[in-house]
Amino acid sequence: TEPALIRNFCIIAHIDHGKSTLADRMLQLTGVVEQRQMRAQYLDRMDIERERGITIKSQAVRMPWASDGTPHVLNMIDTPGHVDFTYEVSRSLAACEGCILLVDAAQGIEAQTLANLYLAMENDLTIIPVLNKIDLPAAQPDKFAAELAHLIGCDPDDVLRVSAKTGDGVPELLDEVIRQVPAPVGDADAPARAMIFDSVYDAYRGVVTYVKVVDGRLGRRERIQMMSTGATHELLEIGVNSPEMTPSDGIAVGEVGYLITGVKDVRQSKVGDTVTWQRNGATEPLGGYKDPRPMVFSGLYPIDGSDYPALRDALEKLQLNDAALVYEPETSVALGFGFRVGFLGLLHLEVIRERLEREFGLDLIATAPNVVYQVTMEDGSEHTVTNPSEFPVGKIAEVREPVVRATLIAPTEFIGAIMELCQARRGAMQGMDYLSEERVELRYTLPLAEIVFDFFDALKSKTRGYASLDYEPTGEQAAALVKVDILLHGDKVDAFSAIVHKDKAYAYGVKMAGKLRELIPRQQFEVPIQAAIGSRVIARETVRAIRKDVLSKCYGGDISRKRKLLEKQKEGKKRMKMVGRVEVPQEAFIAALSSD
Ligand code: GDP
Ligand code: MG
Repeated sequence: TEPALIRNFCIIAHIDHGKSTLADRMLQLTGVVEQRQMRAQYLDRMDIERERGITIKSQAVRMPWASDGTPHVLNMIDTPGHVDFTYEVSRSLAACEGCILLVDAAQGIEAQTLANLYLAMENDLTIIPVLNKIDLPAAQPDKFAAELAHLIGCDPDDVLRVSAKTGDGVPELLDEVIRQVPAPVGDADAPARAMIFDSVYDAYRGVVTYVKVVDGRLGRRERIQMMSTGATHELLEIGVNSPEMTPSDGIAVGEVGYLITGVKDVRQSKVGDTVTWQRNGATEPLGGYKDPRPMVFSGLYPIDGSDYPALRDALEKLQLNDAALVYEPETSVALGFGFRVGFLGLLHLEVIRERLEREFGLDLIATAPNVVYQVTMEDGSEHTVTNPSEFPVGKIAEVREPVVRATLIAPTEFIGAIMELCQARRGAMQGMDYLSEERVELRYTLPLAEIVFDFFDALKSKTRGYASLDYEPTGEQAAALVKVDILLHGDKVDAFSAIVHKDKAYAYGVKMAGKLRELIPRQQFEVPIQAAIGSRVIARETVRAIRKDVLSKCYGGDISRKRKLLEKQKEGKKRMKMVGRVEVPQEAFIAALSSD
Protein backbone atom coordinates (compact mmCIF):
# COMPACT_ATOMS: atom_id res chain seq x y z
CA THR A 1 0.00 0.00 0.00
CA GLU A 2 1.30 3.44 -0.79
CA PRO A 3 1.97 5.57 2.27
CA ALA A 4 -0.64 8.20 1.33
CA LEU A 5 -3.36 5.61 1.96
CA ILE A 6 -2.04 4.40 5.32
CA ARG A 7 -3.01 5.70 8.75
CA ASN A 8 -1.18 4.48 11.85
CA PHE A 9 -2.93 5.28 15.12
CA CYS A 10 -3.39 4.12 18.66
CA ILE A 11 -5.96 4.59 21.38
CA ILE A 12 -4.89 6.08 24.69
CA ALA A 13 -7.20 5.93 27.65
CA HIS A 14 -7.33 5.51 31.39
CA ILE A 15 -8.07 1.97 32.52
CA ASP A 16 -11.74 1.01 32.03
CA HIS A 17 -12.53 3.97 29.82
CA GLY A 18 -13.29 1.53 27.01
CA LYS A 19 -10.18 1.14 24.88
CA SER A 20 -10.54 -2.61 24.34
CA THR A 21 -14.25 -2.34 23.66
CA LEU A 22 -13.65 0.40 21.08
CA ALA A 23 -10.95 -1.70 19.44
CA ASP A 24 -13.40 -4.60 19.29
CA ARG A 25 -16.02 -2.42 17.61
CA MET A 26 -13.50 -1.25 15.02
CA LEU A 27 -12.46 -4.80 14.21
CA GLN A 28 -16.09 -5.68 13.72
CA LEU A 29 -17.03 -2.63 11.65
CA THR A 30 -14.11 -3.03 9.31
CA GLY A 31 -15.00 -6.68 8.84
CA VAL A 32 -11.66 -7.91 10.15
CA VAL A 33 -13.28 -10.07 12.78
CA GLU A 34 -16.51 -11.74 11.86
CA GLN A 35 -19.50 -11.48 14.12
CA ARG A 36 -19.40 -15.09 15.19
CA GLN A 37 -15.71 -14.99 16.12
CA MET A 38 -16.19 -11.87 18.12
CA ARG A 39 -15.63 -12.19 21.82
CA ALA A 40 -15.17 -9.29 24.16
CA GLN A 41 -11.69 -7.79 24.19
CA TYR A 42 -10.45 -9.74 21.23
CA LEU A 43 -7.01 -8.21 21.37
CA ASP A 44 -6.28 -8.82 25.04
CA ARG A 45 -4.76 -12.24 24.62
CA MET A 46 -3.09 -13.06 27.88
CA ASP A 47 -5.22 -14.65 30.58
CA ILE A 48 -4.04 -12.31 33.30
CA GLU A 49 -4.86 -9.37 31.08
CA ARG A 50 -8.35 -10.60 30.49
CA GLU A 51 -8.98 -11.29 34.14
CA ARG A 52 -7.57 -8.05 35.43
CA GLY A 53 -8.76 -6.06 32.47
CA ILE A 54 -5.35 -4.63 31.75
CA THR A 55 -3.36 -4.75 28.58
CA ILE A 56 0.20 -5.81 29.16
CA LYS A 57 1.52 -6.56 25.70
CA SER A 58 0.69 -4.38 22.76
CA GLN A 59 -0.34 -5.71 19.40
CA ALA A 60 -0.96 -4.18 16.02
CA VAL A 61 -3.83 -4.95 13.70
CA ARG A 62 -4.47 -3.91 10.12
CA MET A 63 -7.99 -2.93 9.05
CA PRO A 64 -9.38 -1.82 5.68
CA TRP A 65 -11.62 1.25 5.71
CA ALA A 66 -12.95 3.23 2.80
CA SER A 67 -13.45 6.92 3.27
CA ASP A 68 -15.23 8.87 0.50
CA GLY A 69 -14.97 5.78 -1.67
CA THR A 70 -11.17 5.52 -1.38
CA PRO A 71 -9.94 2.33 0.29
CA HIS A 72 -7.42 3.02 3.05
CA VAL A 73 -5.41 0.87 5.41
CA LEU A 74 -5.73 1.58 9.11
CA ASN A 75 -3.10 0.17 11.46
CA MET A 76 -4.31 0.19 15.02
CA ILE A 77 -1.49 -0.23 17.50
CA ASP A 78 -2.54 -1.28 20.98
CA THR A 79 -0.42 0.23 23.75
CA PRO A 80 0.07 -1.25 27.20
CA GLY A 81 -1.82 0.98 29.59
CA HIS A 82 0.18 0.71 32.78
CA VAL A 83 2.88 2.98 34.18
CA ASP A 84 5.36 0.14 34.56
CA PHE A 85 5.54 -0.08 30.80
CA THR A 86 6.07 3.60 29.96
CA TYR A 87 8.96 2.87 27.65
CA GLU A 88 6.98 0.35 25.66
CA VAL A 89 4.07 2.77 25.47
CA SER A 90 6.38 5.45 24.14
CA ARG A 91 7.71 3.11 21.42
CA SER A 92 4.18 2.12 20.39
CA LEU A 93 3.27 5.79 20.17
CA ALA A 94 6.40 6.49 18.14
CA ALA A 95 5.12 4.00 15.55
CA CYS A 96 1.97 6.12 15.05
CA GLU A 97 1.18 9.46 13.45
CA GLY A 98 -1.99 10.01 15.44
CA CYS A 99 -3.93 8.86 18.46
CA ILE A 100 -7.45 8.71 19.77
CA LEU A 101 -7.61 10.20 23.25
CA LEU A 102 -10.52 8.26 24.71
CA VAL A 103 -12.25 9.52 27.84
CA ASP A 104 -15.20 8.01 29.71
CA ALA A 105 -18.08 10.50 29.42
CA ALA A 106 -19.19 9.68 32.95
CA GLN A 107 -15.71 9.97 34.53
CA GLY A 108 -13.69 12.62 32.76
CA ILE A 109 -9.94 12.85 32.48
CA GLU A 110 -7.87 10.62 34.77
CA ALA A 111 -4.17 10.40 35.56
CA GLN A 112 -3.39 7.75 32.96
CA THR A 113 -5.18 9.80 30.29
CA LEU A 114 -2.83 12.68 31.04
CA ALA A 115 0.38 10.69 31.34
CA ASN A 116 -0.28 9.03 27.98
CA LEU A 117 -1.31 12.33 26.43
CA TYR A 118 2.01 13.87 27.45
CA LEU A 119 3.84 10.95 25.80
CA ALA A 120 1.75 11.40 22.64
CA MET A 121 2.60 15.08 22.56
CA GLU A 122 6.30 14.32 22.97
CA ASN A 123 6.00 12.10 19.90
CA ASP A 124 4.22 14.86 17.91
CA LEU A 125 1.08 12.81 17.34
CA THR A 126 -2.14 14.30 16.02
CA ILE A 127 -4.65 13.93 18.84
CA ILE A 128 -8.32 13.15 18.25
CA PRO A 129 -10.31 13.76 21.44
CA VAL A 130 -13.21 11.33 21.92
CA LEU A 131 -15.77 10.83 24.66
CA ASN A 132 -16.89 7.23 25.13
CA LYS A 133 -19.90 5.63 26.86
CA ILE A 134 -22.36 8.34 25.79
CA ASP A 135 -25.06 5.68 26.13
CA LEU A 136 -24.67 5.72 29.92
CA PRO A 137 -27.40 7.60 31.80
CA ALA A 138 -24.66 9.10 34.01
CA ALA A 139 -22.74 10.48 31.01
CA GLN A 140 -22.08 14.22 31.07
CA PRO A 141 -20.75 14.75 27.55
CA ASP A 142 -21.03 18.54 27.51
CA LYS A 143 -19.15 18.97 30.73
CA PHE A 144 -16.34 16.59 29.82
CA ALA A 145 -16.12 17.82 26.24
CA ALA A 146 -15.33 21.23 27.71
CA GLU A 147 -12.75 19.67 30.05
CA LEU A 148 -11.05 17.82 27.18
CA ALA A 149 -11.16 20.82 24.86
CA HIS A 150 -9.59 22.96 27.57
CA LEU A 151 -6.87 20.38 28.11
CA ILE A 152 -5.73 20.01 24.51
CA GLY A 153 -6.73 23.44 23.29
CA CYS A 154 -9.49 22.69 20.79
CA ASP A 155 -13.14 23.60 20.33
CA PRO A 156 -15.57 21.56 22.49
CA ASP A 157 -17.50 20.86 19.26
CA ASP A 158 -14.46 19.03 17.89
CA VAL A 159 -14.68 16.43 20.63
CA LEU A 160 -16.27 13.34 19.10
CA ARG A 161 -18.86 11.34 21.02
CA VAL A 162 -19.16 7.58 20.72
CA SER A 163 -20.46 4.51 22.42
CA ALA A 164 -18.01 1.68 22.01
CA LYS A 165 -20.69 -0.59 23.42
CA THR A 166 -23.43 0.16 20.88
CA GLY A 167 -21.10 1.23 18.07
CA ASP A 168 -22.74 4.63 17.91
CA GLY A 169 -20.38 7.20 16.34
CA VAL A 170 -17.63 4.66 15.64
CA PRO A 171 -17.86 4.73 11.79
CA GLU A 172 -17.62 8.53 11.92
CA LEU A 173 -14.60 8.19 14.18
CA LEU A 174 -12.86 5.94 11.63
CA ASP A 175 -13.55 8.58 8.96
CA GLU A 176 -12.03 11.22 11.22
CA VAL A 177 -8.91 9.11 11.72
CA ILE A 178 -8.42 9.12 7.94
CA ARG A 179 -9.17 12.82 7.68
CA GLN A 180 -7.06 14.05 10.60
CA VAL A 181 -4.16 11.64 11.11
CA PRO A 182 -1.27 12.41 8.73
CA ALA A 183 -0.09 9.69 6.36
CA PRO A 184 3.33 8.26 7.28
CA VAL A 185 6.32 9.73 5.45
CA GLY A 186 9.63 8.03 4.72
CA ASP A 187 12.21 7.52 2.01
CA ALA A 188 11.13 4.57 -0.13
CA ASP A 189 14.52 4.36 -1.89
CA ALA A 190 16.69 4.50 1.21
CA PRO A 191 18.13 1.40 2.96
CA ALA A 192 15.43 -0.17 5.12
CA ARG A 193 14.92 1.14 8.63
CA ALA A 194 12.16 -0.31 10.77
CA MET A 195 11.47 0.38 14.42
CA ILE A 196 10.65 -2.49 16.78
CA PHE A 197 7.73 -1.52 19.00
CA ASP A 198 6.95 -4.94 20.42
CA SER A 199 8.36 -8.43 20.49
CA VAL A 200 6.49 -11.46 21.72
CA TYR A 201 7.61 -15.03 22.28
CA ASP A 202 5.47 -17.72 20.70
CA ALA A 203 6.07 -21.34 21.68
CA TYR A 204 5.63 -22.58 18.10
CA ARG A 205 7.19 -19.86 16.00
CA GLY A 206 9.79 -18.31 18.24
CA VAL A 207 9.92 -14.55 18.66
CA VAL A 208 7.40 -12.50 16.69
CA THR A 209 8.71 -8.96 16.26
CA TYR A 210 6.36 -6.07 15.50
CA VAL A 211 7.83 -3.23 13.47
CA LYS A 212 6.93 -0.06 11.69
CA VAL A 213 8.90 0.49 8.49
CA VAL A 214 10.16 4.07 8.39
CA ASP A 215 12.35 3.93 5.25
CA GLY A 216 12.82 1.42 2.44
CA ARG A 217 11.34 -2.06 2.43
CA LEU A 218 11.87 -5.39 4.18
CA GLY A 219 11.23 -8.54 2.17
CA ARG A 220 10.84 -12.23 2.82
CA ARG A 221 14.08 -14.26 2.82
CA GLU A 222 16.24 -11.12 3.16
CA ARG A 223 18.99 -10.97 5.75
CA ILE A 224 18.52 -8.29 8.36
CA GLN A 225 20.56 -6.73 11.11
CA MET A 226 19.64 -5.45 14.59
CA MET A 227 21.40 -2.10 14.79
CA SER A 228 21.95 -2.03 18.59
CA THR A 229 23.88 -5.33 18.63
CA GLY A 230 24.85 -5.98 15.01
CA ALA A 231 23.26 -9.44 15.23
CA THR A 232 22.03 -10.72 11.85
CA HIS A 233 19.13 -12.98 10.98
CA GLU A 234 17.20 -14.25 8.00
CA LEU A 235 13.58 -13.12 7.60
CA LEU A 236 11.86 -16.48 7.56
CA GLU A 237 8.47 -14.82 7.49
CA ILE A 238 7.11 -11.30 7.22
CA GLY A 239 3.52 -10.14 7.16
CA VAL A 240 0.69 -8.24 8.80
CA ASN A 241 -1.84 -8.99 11.54
CA SER A 242 -5.38 -8.85 10.32
CA PRO A 243 -6.02 -9.82 13.10
CA GLU A 244 -4.28 -13.19 12.77
CA MET A 245 -0.78 -13.34 11.29
CA THR A 246 -0.96 -13.18 7.49
CA PRO A 247 2.34 -13.70 5.62
CA SER A 248 3.28 -11.47 2.67
CA ASP A 249 6.27 -10.75 0.40
CA GLY A 250 7.33 -7.74 2.36
CA ILE A 251 6.36 -4.47 4.00
CA ALA A 252 7.39 -0.98 2.94
CA VAL A 253 7.44 2.67 4.04
CA GLY A 254 4.76 3.52 6.59
CA GLU A 255 3.56 -0.04 6.97
CA VAL A 256 3.24 -1.93 10.22
CA GLY A 257 3.79 -5.66 10.39
CA TYR A 258 5.58 -8.57 11.97
CA LEU A 259 8.87 -10.40 11.38
CA ILE A 260 9.89 -13.95 12.26
CA THR A 261 13.56 -14.90 12.24
CA GLY A 262 13.53 -18.05 14.33
CA VAL A 263 15.21 -16.48 17.38
CA LYS A 264 13.93 -17.88 20.65
CA ASP A 265 14.53 -15.05 23.06
CA VAL A 266 12.96 -11.57 23.00
CA ARG A 267 16.24 -10.07 24.17
CA GLN A 268 17.52 -10.65 20.64
CA SER A 269 14.75 -8.46 19.30
CA LYS A 270 14.53 -5.47 21.58
CA VAL A 271 11.77 -2.90 21.73
CA GLY A 272 13.07 0.42 20.40
CA ASP A 273 15.82 -1.13 18.26
CA THR A 274 16.16 -0.46 14.52
CA VAL A 275 16.08 -3.27 11.95
CA THR A 276 17.99 -2.74 8.70
CA TRP A 277 19.43 -4.85 5.88
CA GLN A 278 22.55 -6.84 6.62
CA ARG A 279 24.18 -5.68 3.34
CA ASN A 280 24.11 -2.01 2.34
CA GLY A 281 22.06 -1.32 5.43
CA ALA A 282 21.38 2.03 7.07
CA THR A 283 24.19 3.56 9.10
CA GLU A 284 22.09 5.70 11.46
CA PRO A 285 19.58 3.96 13.72
CA LEU A 286 16.22 5.58 14.41
CA GLY A 287 16.25 7.60 17.64
CA GLY A 288 14.84 6.69 21.00
CA TYR A 289 16.36 3.30 21.75
CA LYS A 290 16.88 2.48 25.43
CA ASP A 291 17.84 -0.75 27.15
CA PRO A 292 15.12 -1.93 29.51
CA ARG A 293 16.16 -1.16 33.07
CA PRO A 294 14.62 -2.88 36.08
CA MET A 295 13.47 -0.37 38.67
CA VAL A 296 12.30 -2.63 41.47
CA PHE A 297 13.93 -5.74 42.96
CA SER A 298 12.57 -8.47 45.15
CA GLY A 299 13.85 -11.83 46.37
CA LEU A 300 11.68 -14.73 45.24
CA TYR A 301 11.97 -17.99 47.20
CA PRO A 302 10.12 -21.28 46.85
CA ILE A 303 8.30 -22.11 50.06
CA ASP A 304 9.25 -25.72 49.47
CA GLY A 305 13.02 -25.72 48.97
CA SER A 306 12.85 -28.64 46.55
CA ASP A 307 11.00 -26.38 44.08
CA TYR A 308 14.17 -24.36 43.50
CA PRO A 309 15.05 -26.00 40.13
CA ALA A 310 11.43 -25.59 39.00
CA LEU A 311 11.56 -21.90 39.88
CA ARG A 312 14.78 -21.49 37.92
CA ASP A 313 13.26 -23.17 34.85
CA ALA A 314 10.12 -21.07 35.12
CA LEU A 315 12.07 -17.79 35.29
CA GLU A 316 14.10 -18.89 32.29
CA LYS A 317 10.91 -19.52 30.32
CA LEU A 318 9.32 -16.21 31.30
CA GLN A 319 12.45 -14.33 30.33
CA LEU A 320 12.08 -15.58 26.75
CA ASN A 321 9.04 -13.35 26.51
CA ASP A 322 10.11 -10.49 28.70
CA ALA A 323 13.26 -8.55 27.97
CA ALA A 324 12.81 -6.47 31.12
CA LEU A 325 12.90 -9.43 33.50
CA VAL A 326 16.32 -10.05 35.06
CA TYR A 327 17.31 -12.42 37.85
CA GLU A 328 20.25 -14.02 39.60
CA PRO A 329 20.52 -16.73 42.25
CA GLU A 330 20.57 -15.59 45.84
CA THR A 331 20.70 -17.35 49.18
CA SER A 332 19.15 -16.16 52.37
CA VAL A 333 19.66 -17.34 55.92
CA ALA A 334 15.96 -17.05 56.55
CA LEU A 335 14.54 -18.29 53.26
CA GLY A 336 17.11 -20.62 51.73
CA PHE A 337 17.82 -20.71 47.99
CA GLY A 338 16.02 -18.32 45.68
CA PHE A 339 16.49 -15.53 43.18
CA ARG A 340 16.89 -11.79 43.24
CA VAL A 341 14.57 -10.63 40.48
CA GLY A 342 14.42 -7.21 38.80
CA PHE A 343 11.14 -5.70 37.55
CA LEU A 344 9.99 -2.56 35.77
CA GLY A 345 7.62 -1.80 38.61
CA LEU A 346 5.11 -3.22 41.03
CA LEU A 347 2.56 -4.40 38.51
CA HIS A 348 5.28 -6.16 36.59
CA LEU A 349 6.34 -7.87 39.83
CA GLU A 350 2.79 -8.91 40.59
CA VAL A 351 2.19 -10.22 37.09
CA ILE A 352 5.39 -12.30 37.11
CA ARG A 353 4.69 -13.66 40.55
CA GLU A 354 1.17 -14.57 39.62
CA ARG A 355 2.32 -16.30 36.44
CA LEU A 356 4.93 -18.27 38.39
CA GLU A 357 2.29 -19.41 40.83
CA ARG A 358 -0.49 -20.02 38.36
CA GLU A 359 1.20 -21.25 35.20
CA PHE A 360 4.05 -23.08 36.90
CA GLY A 361 2.32 -24.17 40.09
CA LEU A 362 4.95 -22.70 42.42
CA ASP A 363 4.36 -21.50 45.98
CA LEU A 364 6.53 -18.47 46.54
CA ILE A 365 7.51 -16.01 49.19
CA ALA A 366 8.70 -12.58 48.07
CA THR A 367 10.81 -10.20 50.13
CA ALA A 368 9.66 -6.59 50.39
CA PRO A 369 10.39 -4.86 47.06
CA ASN A 370 13.21 -2.35 46.98
CA VAL A 371 14.50 0.13 44.42
CA VAL A 372 18.07 0.43 43.13
CA TYR A 373 20.44 2.66 45.11
CA GLN A 374 23.69 4.25 44.02
CA VAL A 375 26.22 4.61 46.81
CA THR A 376 29.39 6.71 46.66
CA MET A 377 31.98 5.96 49.33
CA GLU A 378 34.33 8.56 50.79
CA ASP A 379 37.21 6.88 48.95
CA GLY A 380 35.35 7.62 45.69
CA SER A 381 34.25 4.07 44.88
CA GLU A 382 30.73 3.54 43.54
CA HIS A 383 28.27 0.74 44.35
CA THR A 384 24.96 -0.17 42.75
CA VAL A 385 22.78 -1.78 45.40
CA THR A 386 19.91 -3.98 44.30
CA ASN A 387 19.71 -5.90 47.57
CA PRO A 388 19.60 -4.07 50.92
CA SER A 389 21.67 -6.77 52.62
CA GLU A 390 24.50 -5.87 50.22
CA PHE A 391 24.56 -2.22 51.22
CA PRO A 392 28.25 -1.33 51.59
CA VAL A 393 29.80 -0.94 55.02
CA GLY A 394 32.34 1.79 55.73
CA LYS A 395 32.43 5.51 55.19
CA ILE A 396 29.63 6.56 52.86
CA ALA A 397 29.75 9.93 51.13
CA GLU A 398 26.37 9.87 49.42
CA VAL A 399 23.40 7.61 48.69
CA ARG A 400 21.17 8.32 45.69
CA GLU A 401 17.72 6.93 45.02
CA PRO A 402 15.45 7.00 41.94
CA VAL A 403 12.69 9.61 41.80
CA VAL A 404 9.52 9.78 39.72
CA ARG A 405 7.32 12.54 38.37
CA ALA A 406 3.82 11.73 39.58
CA THR A 407 0.53 13.04 38.25
CA LEU A 408 -2.45 12.77 40.60
CA ILE A 409 -6.00 13.65 39.69
CA ALA A 410 -8.84 13.89 42.18
CA PRO A 411 -11.93 15.85 43.18
CA THR A 412 -10.88 19.13 44.81
CA GLU A 413 -12.15 18.06 48.27
CA PHE A 414 -9.21 15.63 48.50
CA ILE A 415 -6.42 18.15 47.84
CA GLY A 416 -5.54 18.30 51.55
CA ALA A 417 -5.46 14.54 51.98
CA ILE A 418 -3.28 14.06 48.91
CA MET A 419 -0.84 16.78 49.93
CA GLU A 420 -0.56 15.22 53.37
CA LEU A 421 0.13 11.78 51.92
CA CYS A 422 2.72 13.05 49.44
CA GLN A 423 4.45 15.03 52.17
CA ALA A 424 4.62 12.00 54.44
CA ARG A 425 6.19 10.14 51.53
CA ARG A 426 8.90 12.78 51.04
CA GLY A 427 7.25 14.28 47.97
CA ALA A 428 7.99 17.73 46.55
CA MET A 429 5.10 19.55 44.92
CA GLN A 430 5.77 20.74 41.38
CA GLY A 431 2.44 22.25 40.49
CA MET A 432 -1.32 22.14 40.64
CA ASP A 433 -3.93 22.81 37.95
CA TYR A 434 -7.70 22.83 38.02
CA LEU A 435 -9.13 20.71 35.21
CA SER A 436 -12.56 22.05 36.11
CA GLU A 437 -14.18 23.52 39.20
CA GLU A 438 -14.41 20.14 40.86
CA ARG A 439 -11.28 18.37 39.70
CA VAL A 440 -7.65 19.09 40.17
CA GLU A 441 -4.34 17.80 38.86
CA LEU A 442 -1.41 17.71 41.30
CA ARG A 443 2.17 17.14 40.19
CA TYR A 444 4.82 15.85 42.57
CA THR A 445 8.28 14.43 42.46
CA LEU A 446 8.47 11.48 44.82
CA PRO A 447 11.11 8.90 45.66
CA LEU A 448 10.20 5.71 43.79
CA ALA A 449 10.84 3.77 47.01
CA GLU A 450 7.96 5.61 48.67
CA ILE A 451 5.61 4.68 45.84
CA VAL A 452 6.45 1.01 45.53
CA PHE A 453 5.43 0.54 49.11
CA ASP A 454 1.60 0.63 49.30
CA PHE A 455 1.32 4.24 48.09
CA PHE A 456 -1.48 3.41 45.71
CA ASP A 457 -3.55 1.72 48.44
CA ALA A 458 -3.01 4.63 50.80
CA LEU A 459 -4.07 7.06 48.08
CA LYS A 460 -7.19 5.08 47.29
CA SER A 461 -8.25 4.87 50.92
CA LYS A 462 -7.61 8.56 51.61
CA THR A 463 -9.65 9.60 48.58
CA ARG A 464 -12.35 6.91 48.71
CA GLY A 465 -11.09 5.57 45.42
CA TYR A 466 -11.57 8.84 43.55
CA ALA A 467 -7.93 9.71 42.92
CA SER A 468 -5.92 8.37 40.04
CA LEU A 469 -2.17 8.21 39.84
CA ASP A 470 0.42 7.86 37.14
CA TYR A 471 4.17 8.37 37.24
CA GLU A 472 7.34 8.10 35.25
CA PRO A 473 10.99 7.95 36.28
CA THR A 474 12.82 11.28 36.11
CA GLY A 475 16.25 10.49 37.50
CA GLU A 476 17.75 10.26 40.96
CA GLN A 477 18.38 12.37 44.04
CA ALA A 478 20.67 12.22 47.05
CA ALA A 479 18.88 11.40 50.29
CA ALA A 480 19.63 10.63 53.94
CA LEU A 481 19.20 6.88 53.64
CA VAL A 482 20.40 4.25 56.05
CA LYS A 483 20.35 0.48 56.24
CA VAL A 484 18.44 -1.02 59.11
CA ASP A 485 19.35 -4.60 60.07
CA ILE A 486 17.30 -6.93 62.18
CA LEU A 487 19.31 -9.19 64.51
CA LEU A 488 18.23 -12.34 66.30
CA HIS A 489 20.46 -13.10 69.23
CA GLY A 490 23.10 -10.94 67.60
CA ASP A 491 22.87 -12.51 64.13
CA LYS A 492 21.56 -10.59 61.11
CA VAL A 493 18.45 -11.89 59.38
CA ASP A 494 19.22 -10.88 55.80
CA ALA A 495 15.67 -10.94 54.43
CA PHE A 496 14.66 -8.16 56.83
CA SER A 497 17.41 -5.66 56.09
CA ALA A 498 15.92 -2.54 54.56
CA ILE A 499 17.14 0.77 53.24
CA VAL A 500 14.99 3.53 54.64
CA HIS A 501 15.11 7.27 55.19
CA LYS A 502 16.80 8.03 58.53
CA ASP A 503 13.62 9.64 59.86
CA LYS A 504 11.76 6.39 59.28
CA ALA A 505 14.43 3.99 60.48
CA TYR A 506 13.18 3.89 64.07
CA ALA A 507 9.58 3.17 63.06
CA TYR A 508 10.72 0.38 60.75
CA GLY A 509 12.92 -1.16 63.45
CA VAL A 510 10.20 -1.09 66.09
CA LYS A 511 7.64 -2.55 63.71
CA MET A 512 9.81 -5.45 62.55
CA ALA A 513 11.15 -6.29 66.01
CA GLY A 514 7.59 -6.30 67.36
CA LYS A 515 6.32 -8.52 64.57
CA LEU A 516 9.11 -11.04 65.03
CA ARG A 517 8.62 -11.21 68.77
CA GLU A 518 5.07 -12.36 68.15
CA LEU A 519 6.15 -14.95 65.60
CA ILE A 520 9.30 -16.51 67.01
CA PRO A 521 8.68 -19.39 69.41
CA ARG A 522 10.42 -19.43 72.78
CA GLN A 523 13.78 -21.16 72.87
CA GLN A 524 15.83 -22.74 75.64
CA PHE A 525 17.48 -19.37 76.15
CA GLU A 526 16.47 -15.75 76.00
CA VAL A 527 16.51 -14.30 72.45
CA PRO A 528 16.98 -10.58 71.98
CA ILE A 529 15.56 -9.14 68.76
CA GLN A 530 17.30 -5.93 67.79
CA ALA A 531 17.01 -3.38 65.03
CA ALA A 532 20.31 -1.67 64.31
CA ILE A 533 21.89 0.88 62.02
CA GLY A 534 25.46 -0.36 61.72
CA SER A 535 26.43 -1.16 65.31
CA ARG A 536 23.91 1.25 66.83
CA VAL A 537 20.85 -0.53 68.22
CA ILE A 538 17.67 1.50 67.69
CA ALA A 539 15.01 -0.92 68.95
CA ARG A 540 14.90 -4.06 71.04
CA GLU A 541 12.42 -6.78 71.95
CA THR A 542 12.97 -10.05 73.82
CA VAL A 543 11.62 -13.55 73.44
CA ARG A 544 11.78 -15.11 76.91
CA ALA A 545 13.32 -18.53 77.48
CA ILE A 546 11.47 -21.73 78.21
CA ARG A 547 12.72 -25.17 78.95
CA LYS A 548 11.20 -27.64 76.56
CA ASP A 549 12.12 -31.28 77.07
CA VAL A 550 9.98 -33.75 75.20
CA LEU A 551 11.38 -36.75 77.03
CA SER A 552 10.61 -35.50 80.52
CA LYS A 553 6.96 -36.47 80.02
CA CYS A 554 7.64 -40.19 79.77
CA TYR A 555 10.19 -40.87 82.48
CA GLY A 556 11.64 -44.30 82.39
CA GLY A 557 8.86 -45.94 80.43
CA ASP A 558 8.52 -47.29 76.96
CA ILE A 559 11.64 -46.88 74.79
CA SER A 560 9.77 -47.08 71.46
CA ARG A 561 7.51 -44.30 72.60
CA LYS A 562 10.59 -42.20 73.32
CA ARG A 563 11.95 -42.88 69.85
CA LYS A 564 8.67 -41.89 68.23
CA LEU A 565 8.68 -38.63 70.07
CA LEU A 566 12.24 -37.90 69.01
CA GLU A 567 11.40 -38.62 65.40
CA LYS A 568 8.38 -36.41 65.56
CA GLN A 569 10.55 -33.61 66.86
CA LYS A 570 13.01 -34.17 64.02
CA GLU A 571 10.19 -33.92 61.45
CA GLY A 572 9.18 -30.64 62.97
CA LYS A 573 12.73 -29.37 62.70
CA LYS A 574 12.88 -29.84 58.94
CA ARG A 575 10.96 -26.67 58.36
CA MET A 576 13.09 -24.87 60.93
CA LYS A 577 15.79 -22.41 59.91
CA MET A 578 18.79 -21.70 62.07
CA VAL A 579 19.79 -18.09 62.54
CA GLY A 580 22.97 -18.44 64.56
CA ARG A 581 21.78 -20.45 67.57
CA VAL A 582 18.13 -19.54 67.15
CA GLU A 583 15.67 -21.95 65.64
CA VAL A 584 12.88 -20.28 63.68
CA PRO A 585 10.07 -21.96 61.76
CA GLN A 586 10.09 -20.77 58.18
CA GLU A 587 6.42 -19.82 58.56
CA ALA A 588 7.46 -17.14 61.03
CA PHE A 589 9.67 -15.49 58.42
CA ILE A 590 6.99 -15.77 55.81
CA ALA A 591 4.40 -14.26 58.11
CA ALA A 592 6.74 -11.42 59.06
CA LEU A 593 7.49 -10.65 55.41
CA SER A 594 3.93 -10.60 54.16
CA SER A 595 2.52 -7.12 54.43
CA ASP A 596 -0.04 -6.46 57.12
P1 GDP B 1 -10.19 -0.57 28.85
O1 GDP B 1 -9.65 -0.86 30.22
O2 GDP B 1 -9.98 0.87 28.48
O3 GDP B 1 -9.70 -1.52 27.80
O4 GDP B 1 -11.78 -0.71 28.98
P2 GDP B 1 -12.73 -1.87 28.49
O5 GDP B 1 -12.94 -1.81 27.02
O6 GDP B 1 -12.29 -3.16 29.06
O7 GDP B 1 -14.11 -1.38 29.13
C1 GDP B 1 -14.28 -1.24 30.53
C2 GDP B 1 -15.75 -1.44 30.88
O8 GDP B 1 -16.54 -0.40 30.29
C3 GDP B 1 -16.30 -2.75 30.35
O9 GDP B 1 -17.18 -3.26 31.31
C4 GDP B 1 -17.05 -2.33 29.09
O10 GDP B 1 -18.11 -3.21 28.79
C5 GDP B 1 -17.56 -0.96 29.47
N1 GDP B 1 -17.74 -0.09 28.30
C6 GDP B 1 -16.83 0.18 27.33
N2 GDP B 1 -17.35 1.03 26.42
C7 GDP B 1 -18.63 1.29 26.82
C8 GDP B 1 -19.68 2.11 26.30
O11 GDP B 1 -19.58 2.76 25.27
N3 GDP B 1 -20.83 2.14 27.02
C9 GDP B 1 -21.00 1.43 28.16
N4 GDP B 1 -22.18 1.53 28.77
N5 GDP B 1 -20.03 0.66 28.68
C10 GDP B 1 -18.85 0.58 28.02
MG1 MG C 1 -8.33 -3.07 27.85
